Amino acid sequence: MKKFLCYAFLLCCVFLLFACSGNFDYKQNLTTYNLDVEYNDDEKSLSGSEIISYVNSSKNVLKNVKFHLYPNAFRENAKASVVSKSNETKAYPNGKSYGNISVDNVKVENENSNFEICGEDENILNVSLDDDLYPNDKVQISLNFYVKLPNINHRFGYGNNAVNVCNFYPIACVYENDDFVTKLYNSNGDPFYSEVANYNVNIKYPSDFIIATSGTKVNETKENESNKVSVQAKCVRDFAIVLSNKFETKSSTYNKKISINYFYYTDPTPEKTMDLINEVLRFFEEKVGEYPYSQISVAETNFVHGGMEYPNLVLISDSLDSYDTYQMVIIHELLHQWWYGVVGNNEFNEGWIDEGLTEFCTIYFYEKHPEFNKTMDRMVKASTNSYTTFMKVYKDVLGSVDTSINRPLDAFKTEPEYVYNTYVKGMLMFASIYNVVGEKKFVNALKYYYNSNAYEIVNEQILINCFSKGTGRDLENLFRSWLDGKVVIVGM
Ligand SMILES: [Zn+2]
Repeated sequence: MKKFLCYAFLLCCVFLLFACSGNFDYKQNLTTYNLDVEYNDDEKSLSGSEIISYVNSSKNVLKNVKFHLYPNAFRENAKASVVSKSNETKAYPNGKSYGNISVDNVKVENENSNFEICGEDENILNVSLDDDLYPNDKVQISLNFYVKLPNINHRFGYGNNAVNVCNFYPIACVYENDDFVTKLYNSNGDPFYSEVANYNVNIKYPSDFIIATSGTKVNETKENESNKVSVQAKCVRDFAIVLSNKFETKSSTYNKKISINYFYYTDPTPEKTMDLINEVLRFFEEKVGEYPYSQISVAETNFVHGGMEYPNLVLISDSLDSYDTYQMVIIHELLHQWWYGVVGNNEFNEGWIDEGLTEFCTIYFYEKHPEFNKTMDRMVKASTNSYTTFMKVYKDVLGSVDTSINRPLDAFKTEPEYVYNTYVKGMLMFASIYNVVGEKKFVNALKYYYNSNAYEIVNEQILINCFSKGTGRDLENLFRSWLDGKVVIVGM
């Protein structure tokens, strides 16, 4: 996610080997989600069925499977808040509004199953399995669900212009260290964590709406006042939908292989935006590696933050202060297709891994595109000054300040503290490494990191090892001094 834009930018041969680019095949034996959903615009609800062919990708024998129920964070009196206090007015323009998910008819291999809604705050669906599920084996779990959308300018909710149907269906929790990861929603960042999976999704919706999704359309039918589309997405971490009856659209094909789809309602220069999307794809395919999917959708929408990434679909806020900022958010969110989408990380525990690198790659894009008149040097200086000013004020007010980057979302006291350390300082950390190793070695490291972790989940140590190997320099101490907050940043 791109947040707090107002802060953000005031705010040898071995290398040749690493530089080899992608063409990696999709991962096999993945969980498959088959979703059949209908959007009801009168009720602002979504009802449907989900059949999950769940693959045990862990090394343990499983006796149950847990799923996130993210919509329940939007319930009245939910324990976790979905937006920070300072963003409430912007998020809820018509007053507080609530949403939730209910689940029933849960079956395992077509037999009624024992299930419970549990977790810290009704945020988890736990499905018991009658038979042990061995590593790499699969089990079919099916259920019906009903989702009520709140009136909120957020990932999950409807606003005046569009309906954001994201994080809306039960999605399997990642199993690691002998347990499912079941973190509660958190308003500081993107509290999500999932493995890549395959999706077959049927969506029925009123025919006056246009729909943007994470999938590629394979079929479309019209019946009475409704449209029904079937879409597929392979080897993606999540599936999201944005609908609007105000959308205008532009489409083109990049490099004869990727369909670019742009959905907008305020952009006076959509062709210029299409050119930018095209150039972001071209540039990062060259500098990092192949975008391995057949489509990318960019959707303007009502959204409290700058933008939000989902696989093959990014949301861009319709209330940004300028076209310049709009472009910056598009670059940032598209970059998440590489950092978060293809190379995954636990966004709750290690948000800096995708956000810090995405912020840095954004300024690298500007550095290499002088027509935007934003050099990396100037952006680093502005961010350094903005960071030091923020930390000084924060320290004056609170007496002390934690400057470490590598903390889970719930270890940041406030959203600005999260944003400054994860986005701004995270970007400054990668900029300092870029300056130490130089562009060529840094780009080698990006390619190596990307190609060796495609469709997998990385962590701090894997990232450090990849950057050390990809640059031919031992960067462990440099990374750690930044991540642990030991580096002293002085304004310029
Ligand atoms: Zn982001």
